[in-house]
Amino acid sequence: MSKRRQFRKLSLPKPKRVKPFEVSAPQSGASAPQLIRGMKDILPADQIYWDFTRNVARAIADAYRFERIDTPIIEDIKLFNRTIGRQTDIIEKEMFTFIDKGGETLALRPEATASIARAYINHGMLNLPQPVKLWYMGPMFRHNRPQAGRYRQFHQIGFEILNEAKPVADAELIAVTSAICQDLGLSVVFAINTLGDAVCRQAYLNELAAYYRSVRSHLCETCKRRLVKNPLRLLDCKEPSCAKLKTSAPQIADFICEDCKNHFMKLLEYLDEVGAAYVLDPSLVRGLDYYTRTVFEIFLKDSDKVDELSRQNALGGGGRYDNLVEILGGRATPACGFAFGIERLISKMRDRNVIIPTTESAKVFLAVLGESAKRRALKLFEDLRRAGIRIAINFSKETLKSQLEVANKLMVDYTLILGQKEVLDETIIIRDMSTGVQEIVDYKKILIILKKKLGL
Ligand code: AMP
Repeated sequence: MSKRRQFRKLSLPKPKRVKPFEVSAPQSGASAPQLIRGMKDILPADQIYWDFTRNVARAIADAYRFERIDTPIIEDIKLFNRTIGRQTDIIEKEMFTFIDKGGETLALRPEATASIARAYINHGMLNLPQPVKLWYMGPMFRHNRPQAGRYRQFHQIGFEILNEAKPVADAELIAVTSAICQDLGLSVVFAINTLGDAVCRQAYLNELAAYYRSVRSHLCETCKRRLVKNPLRLLDCKEPSCAKLKTSAPQIADFICEDCKNHFMKLLEYLDEVGAAYVLDPSLVRGLDYYTRTVFEIFLKDSDKVDELSRQNALGGGGRYDNLVEILGGRATPACGFAFGIERLISKMRDRNVIIPTTESAKVFLAVLGESAKRRALKLFEDLRRAGIRIAINFSKETLKSQLEVANKLMVDYTLILGQKEVLDETIIIRDMSTGVQEIVDYKKILIILKKKLGL
């Protein structure tokens, strides 16, 4: 047979373009073990969002020179008891804890900042060039009441800057957060507040407690308990009666010292400079005790109306934790950080129909018919993949029709068809998936031809 290119149009059905990956209805297995409450499977159809989110975070981390750190999922419970605060929801009721075979009480991490502060001390990171800028992503565990957007295992992406006291570090975190959201197609607004430092906050706490004591009979039962041990948390209460009371509560801005005030003002100047959208929220306190000075939360910018911000739906949050490393036995190390909830980001991306760029998806599908073609296809597939062709194959489908269906689902530009006849003739067929036109080409020239067609 002539090795010149030949064209022929086969009478194959023109394949339909279908939606990528669809999951069929659940099977009704009689006693199949069930997913644990508050946990979630991340199915193949979701992975495109997860990969995209991780890739965006990785690219921004590289650009801002943050280095990746991974800490264990299990830690000594003391790490969290000492840092997060005994009267917080996390420590009071949300930690997954267990006693291991050695009798140690351990916890599944509810967050990663405490672990990173521990790692900073354990690995002598104080001797590295400062500040140390770290980022992470991974699962966190909180035994809270599952509801929309709230899971018992969820995932966070977080960034931390250790050993930098200046407000430019707080501003850098907000810039990183904005950049990630923007690249994910989400437009966000920051709710921001300052909590002062351990010294100036005390005067505020006294005043706050006095105010709440005067309205004690209107407080919910939990807040009555918090009033004794941690009055700041009253500002965080979602009970309508308590939420109403906070509008008349004293505000921290009237109590903080000059240094804390200057830090906050400087940060706001930076934010104005970078054009970050923010609202001042004097009742924002965050659920963890270790925060000092700056605290912020990130919300989707639904509208310009500030009152539409709902704490329950924060995409992420963070702040400064100048005393955390010291609390754990290290030297005084001013630091700040934030974390996003990946599930929340993805749910908003889905709501907003964010289009995920599919540059990494396959461009070519290799369809194989018959035994001798399969043998040849294994090597051909690997040769083309190594040569930089984004190619896919599905050995479990036997017929050409079923393989073309897969090629369609993958939305490839070309399908290569290799059958017994082509193996004998030393040829291969290239099918243009948008026109259905097929051409027979020299098997040995397939790489050159494909590269030309794909513009590589
Ligand atoms: P936090 O560590 O509490 O500051 O939370 C930071 C972010 O993690 C939140 O804004 C959420 O996006 C996410 N997050 C926290 N708890 C959960 C949860 N139980 N389920 C899903 N996402 C969560």
